[in-house]
Amino acid sequence: MRLRSALALGAAAALAALAAWSTWPPARTVYLGGPILTIDAADRVVEALGVEGERIAAVGSRDEVLAWAAGRAQVVDLAGHALLPGFIDAHGHFPGSGVTAVYADLSPPPIGDVASLDAVVLRLRARAAEKPPGEWVVGWSYDDTLLAERRHPTRQDLDRASTAHPIVAWHVSGHLCALNSQALAKLGLDAATPDPPGGRIRRDAAGAPDGVLEETALELLRGAMPQPSLRESWAIFREATRRTLAAGVTTAQNGYAEAAHLAPLVWLSRAGLLPLRLVVWPREEAAERILAGELAFDPPDPERVRRGAVKLLADGSIQGYTAYLREPYFVPPGDDPGYRGWPRIAPEALAEQVLRFHRAGWQIAVHGNGDAAIDEILDAFEAAQRAFPRVDARHVLVHAQMARDDQLERMRRLGVVPSFFVLHVYYWGDRHREIFLGPQRAARISPLRSAEELGLRFTLHADTPVVPLEPLRIVSAAVNRRTTSGAVLGPEQRIGVARALRAVTADAAWQHFAEASVGSLEPGKLADLVILSRSPLDDPAGVAEIRVLETIVGGKSVFRADAGPAR
Ligand SMILES: [Zn+2]
Repeated sequence: MRLRSALALGAAAALAALAAWSTWPPARTVYLGGPILTIDAADRVVEALGVEGERIAAVGSRDEVLAWAAGRAQVVDLAGHALLPGFIDAHGHFPGSGVTAVYADLSPPPIGDVASLDAVVLRLRARAAEKPPGEWVVGWSYDDTLLAERRHPTRQDLDRASTAHPIVAWHVSGHLCALNSQALAKLGLDAATPDPPGGRIRRDAAGAPDGVLEETALELLRGAMPQPSLRESWAIFREATRRTLAAGVTTAQNGYAEAAHLAPLVWLSRAGLLPLRLVVWPREEAAERILAGELAFDPPDPERVRRGAVKLLADGSIQGYTAYLREPYFVPPGDDPGYRGWPRIAPEALAEQVLRFHRAGWQIAVHGNGDAAIDEILDAFEAAQRAFPRVDARHVLVHAQMARDDQLERMRRLGVVPSFFVLHVYYWGDRHREIFLGPQRAARISPLRSAEELGLRFTLHADTPVVPLEPLRIVSAAVNRRTTSGAVLGPEQRIGVARALRAVTADAAWQHFAEASVGSLEPGKLADLVILSRSPLDDPAGVAEIRVLETIVGGKSVFRADAGPAR
């Protein structure tokens, strides 16, 4: 017995040594020959950076860093390209961007090409043809306001794709979906089914479900729809990893993790299959079980997988007409001119949830888009802080799109971190102005300049897979506020490039309580780096066109574009 375990141990040690030998980065590497943006407290741009093993060891002038290297380093010439800290996702849904590997992609331009209900039907029909009757067909990311018909697909529309398969088409917001008749039947939804609290089953004139479900009504799908198979899950995971690293992101984020996904993410990381860092926010049910001691989620190495905030939701999405506004929508979705959306959860219930997690020492992140929802979230944070004062809780207001000045001031006072979904200016800005919010309110969605002037620390995100994770496009939206039509929306809310870069690096790390190890290029921090085709500081108007050439995690190159610097 003893001998066998000793042999096993020996074999394991040999394997570990082999693995270490084959993956270990060179002892010392020096980067020079291009601008190096440290994003440190002084926003220093330096000449050279030295890496030893997986950490940064030297930052400074070419002479200083070469002296540190003492002739024993591999030297990488940046050839004029720029070196920055790897981007950190403040809020997304990793590995959600990989779903296109298995689901029908219904994205509209400029992301995809689905611009009519006929196109939705064709794409779903093609996917159905690949599957035996009775199997679910899933489509992802249609956008009703970018379809020629300007409406959601009904069950009759989706029946044109197949009556032999249950079909679900997800709205780009993730807060609504459309089902065909067979899917409605599988879920047992009919005219007699009541709307769940915080959700809506849209109906036709006869009161029967028309196919569209909103907000908490989506929970009716859980359990009825099979989870992706192991093979599909792997395909999703691989595709998401590829896309994330190609975007220069070194710390990804899962901002609403199911209980069943917590352990696999840690296993994948420990098995060496997750070549990036990950911050995981358990969704409310999962966090409740962790709080009650029924579920364990203690990742052993927080520098690889970190347990972050509990994620709660207070409302829906503006472009789905489910965000909760204080004043009515500009063009109402139905006959009611006073329609303002609604809260997903009663304010008392939200306050109670927030209080419980706050008291237990958790960081709390709450999704809030509409200004009425933001009021309720801040009420809940304030009541919790009053009952159990806690310094540096870093509670996060996720999206914060319609935050008013008085709400930003309140966030500053309460130490709340707004994480803005500023890409809405680019992707939905024209429609916010013309349809959802009208010119005045649209001009000040994601009020970054106001936040900056108040001295608020904030982060920026893409909510991927709602839109692709492209940190440089995020920076461009913050700096230029151009919409897809080329119009400038709310120029007074533009911020500078340096500040926008900070919001996707150092301040995103800080939001995740990870600032001691990532987010800036400083000695002692992990060597998470991205090489860009040029410095974003040079040409703010062209930031979105900058290419990611190489991504490095812990000193190891994990992505290299074909046209990358010769190494
Ligand atoms: Zn989200």
